[in-house]
Amino acid sequence: MNHHQTGSSYKTRIIRSILTDDLNEAKKVLRETPEDFQLMARLAEKVQGRSHPLPLHKHPGPRFAMSSVSYTCGVGCEMCCSGFNDKTKLFDNYKNLSPSEFDEWSPWVEYGDEVMLVGMGETLDSPHIFDHLEKVRHKTTYLTTSGSTLTAKKAERLIQSGLNYLSLSFGGETTAGHGGGAINYSNLFWKNVTQLNVLKDKLKSSHPILRLQICVDLDNLGQLHSLIEKAVSKNIEEVELFYMIPSSHELFEKSVFSDYENSGEQIRTVLNYWLAKGLEISIYNRKELPEKPTSCHFADLLLIFNLDRYSPQPCCGPFKLPLETTGLTPDQYWNSFPLRYFRYLHANDGREKVPSLCESCWARDPNKFANSIQKAFASNKNPSNLIPIYQKASALKKQNKLKQAIEEFERVIETAEDSELLGKSHFHIGEIELMQENFENAFAQFREALRYQYNHQMAFCYFYLLWIILDKNAVHPGL
Ligand code: SF4
Ligand code: SF4
Repeated sequence: MNHHQTGSSYKTRIIRSILTDDLNEAKKVLRETPEDFQLMARLAEKVQGRSHPLPLHKHPGPRFAMSSVSYTCGVGCEMCCSGFNDKTKLFDNYKNLSPSEFDEWSPWVEYGDEVMLVGMGETLDSPHIFDHLEKVRHKTTYLTTSGSTLTAKKAERLIQSGLNYLSLSFGGETTAGHGGGAINYSNLFWKNVTQLNVLKDKLKSSHPILRLQICVDLDNLGQLHSLIEKAVSKNIEEVELFYMIPSSHELFEKSVFSDYENSGEQIRTVLNYWLAKGLEISIYNRKELPEKPTSCHFADLLLIFNLDRYSPQPCCGPFKLPLETTGLTPDQYWNSFPLRYFRYLHANDGREKVPSLCESCWARDPNKFANSIQKAFASNKNPSNLIPIYQKASALKKQNKLKQAIEEFERVIETAEDSELLGKSHFHIGEIELMQENFENAFAQFREALRYQYNHQMAFCYFYLLWIILDKNAVHPGL
């Protein structure tokens, strides 16, 4: 072993090479590795010259490359999911994405069809925003703002920057939303929109096209018609609806999920009315609100780069991927196995089980999300503490008492609700099955591990190798 290489740098190289289909490199690194990876090394040696998993699930690139640019915001919305409900900055010494960080991101600018600059705080707070926009002038660009900081000077510069779409995030008079529903805030917002329109006229510019993003909750549900009517009268050409996603019991009470059946119907009525009038209006990129779970549109749409610049997310949900972008081209990353498998699962939604986070996600199945969140906020029972059983099971595995270890891990799986614990328990059973060369069983366990914990790196690598060894390309639908 080269002592300059730590176990963790070996691990990074192994994971990166396997998940980007570079099996020669993976075998080379595995041959040099310490004891820890012996199981993986033995498995990799069994893979000879067969095609990589899910080859047809490669994709030319995301429609949107999306990046946050600012980590401050002074609006203070109660519903804020970035953490600005009770503060105006996330960090003392880091307030925005620097021009050099933006440059580092530029391969993704080129790789995506369109570029979106949004949050995590107020986009227009960034002192570099016009510098960033200059660098993406050759692309179709979107920028999101609350609109409250859109002074005449900034509006003029936005128009001159060639920005294509300006998304204004405002939900009318709702206590959880922008300005806490205060009339002064609402007046400021519409004044800024009017001012922007006047400047567009003055500069004879048809751009940026204005869009309104509304986070729908119980407070503003009844105002949607009048809010959209006003937006249309102010030259807003597109409207996007989202749900206000509650992070506390108080917010849950204000959210549509506390009365989803009625709320869903009202949203449908609004959508149908405005679609019939020819307005570009959607909810989570759809023109209708489905009654049944519908495959998520995010699967090939975008990649979001927030604070951790090397771990992008494939959607605005809490989804995490197992691979970092470090050392990879955008194409290698976008077509790595975790993203191919993600696409495959969503393309076969209904036949295959999508990851557990997606199963009851608001974007895919709002009814199920409403039920699960209602249960979570109504229940005051403490989740049972399964950690001691999990630790006992892990100790038994280490002592090579494999049958007993499986029994204990299965006890955890029977009662656990925590997806990380479920994912890890399936992973360990998978490894035990692997030690005994029960490859089909191991494959099934790793698949379950990934269902619960999609970012489990080792489970993904085993799953990849077993997919080839068991020739799963031949048996899986939709390839
Ligand atoms: S404007 Fe946006 S970023 Fe600022 S507090 Fe409100 S939701 Fe959060
Ligand atoms: S269903 Fe939800 S968590 Fe899954 S990809 Fe779509 S938005 Fe993300």
